[in-house]
Amino acid sequence: MWATARSSHNIDVMATGADAVVIGGGVIGLSAAWEAAQRGLSVCVVDPAPGHGASWVAAGMLAPVTEATFGEEPLVRLALAASDRWPGFARRLEEAGADPGFRACGTVVVAADASDRAAVDRVLAYQQELGLEVRRLSASECRALVPALSPGVRGGAAVPGDHQVDNRRLVAALLAACDAAGVRMVADRAEAVIMAGGRVSGVVLAGGPPLTAGTVVVAAGAHSSGLGGVPEGVLPPVRPVKGHVVRLRGPASAPLLEQTLRGLVHGRPCYLVPRQDGTVVVGATSEERGFDLSVQAGAVHTLLDDARTLLPGVDELELVECIAGLRPGSPDNYPWVGPTVVPGLAVATGHYRNGILFTALTADAVATFLERGAVPPPLDAYPPGRALEPAAHTP
Ligand SMILES: Cc1cc2nc3c(=O)[nH]c(=O)nc-3n(C[C@H](O)[C@H](O)[C@H](O)COP(=O)(O)OP(=O)(O)OC[C@H]3O[C@@H](n4cnc5c(N)ncnc54)[C@H](O)[C@@H]3O)c2cc1C
Repeated sequence: MWATARSSHNIDVMATGADAVVIGGGVIGLSAAWEAAQRGLSVCVVDPAPGHGASWVAAGMLAPVTEATFGEEPLVRLALAASDRWPGFARRLEEAGADPGFRACGTVVVAADASDRAAVDRVLAYQQELGLEVRRLSASECRALVPALSPGVRGGAAVPGDHQVDNRRLVAALLAACDAAGVRMVADRAEAVIMAGGRVSGVVLAGGPPLTAGTVVVAAGAHSSGLGGVPEGVLPPVRPVKGHVVRLRGPASAPLLEQTLRGLVHGRPCYLVPRQDGTVVVGATSEERGFDLSVQAGAVHTLLDDARTLLPGVDELELVECIAGLRPGSPDNYPWVGPTVVPGLAVATGHYRNGILFTALTADAVATFLERGAVPPPLDAYPPGRALEPAAHTP
């Protein structure tokens, strides 16, 4: 239950606590808060700029198959489970009056040259071995599906089950749904947790009065390891993995592209994700540069060059935005969802390159944990305290 008082500055002051305070209002924190509020819990989200972290920058691909990487079979299974949740999750948001822009458009993969074709075929064989839904395509079959493709493209594959959501609409939808469900948003930065009697009982804010809560959930994306007041080694070691994205725009009435297009261009991965409003999101680089959000000319140049190699019509689109974001990476590429060893402190982070895909699955896991004290399968297999093996493959 909430109990609030009004300060002389006309700001809500939390006199007593919420069931849960979520630190971080990206897709992970917002969806978890919404899901928990739907189950009758009182929830507060703390974030100075909700929705403007990696969740704002992302391409929004829901891609369990095209993200499948050698040596990561359990992650593929987890990603498929996450993908299965999406249609129902999108429907529930729509019913709440907040359309997240889910689009069941499928994906076409293409290769720019002969060695790209060989690499695409190797991955295709691996995906087929795993029983994933993917079909080899000749160059002319690719062009039949994507008429604007370059005539030089060497063929590829159809991946009908990899879809997309407009991540910026998703953020807006979650903010609206949270508001409607009674989630309190506090526009502030969490500096530290409050420890009392060996357990976490609240959060110290940079600008406002402290918040008390039954459980504090850290969902601060790439910043999740940096919270003060937590004993050493309790929070998982999230690292920022930088990615550049370029946003282009064409006429919505005559889209250049109807499906997500993923390509390999002289060994470099490139994707183009078309939105219904004519926007095309081109991505993405993957760089280990710490907390650096600057946009490099070279990265933008390479993305545009690779995009126009696959789809020459890109030249006619308007360049509307170049931006970089930080994926919350984990050493083994699996997320962390659930309680830490400190009572009252839980985490939902480390979703790396799949956080949009994992939104619905994680939200349910966090809400179930808050409600019943246990994380449900399949995310229960990846607890915050697990032993960490380095990833088999880090792109
Ligand atoms: C270039 C790029 C492309 C991507 N493409 C895809 C894709 O196609 N599909 C996919 O599934 N995933 C994709 N991702 C990954 C995905 O964006 C992330 O995994 C996901 O957004 C993580 O969500 P989050 O809520 O954990 O973090 P974020 O969205 O980063 O949110 C964290 C929030 O925490 C807040 N915060 C930080 N510190 C504090 C603090 N001390 N107090 C209060 N608040 C704080 C921040 O303000 C921020 O709003 C991409 C990422 C990038 C960078």
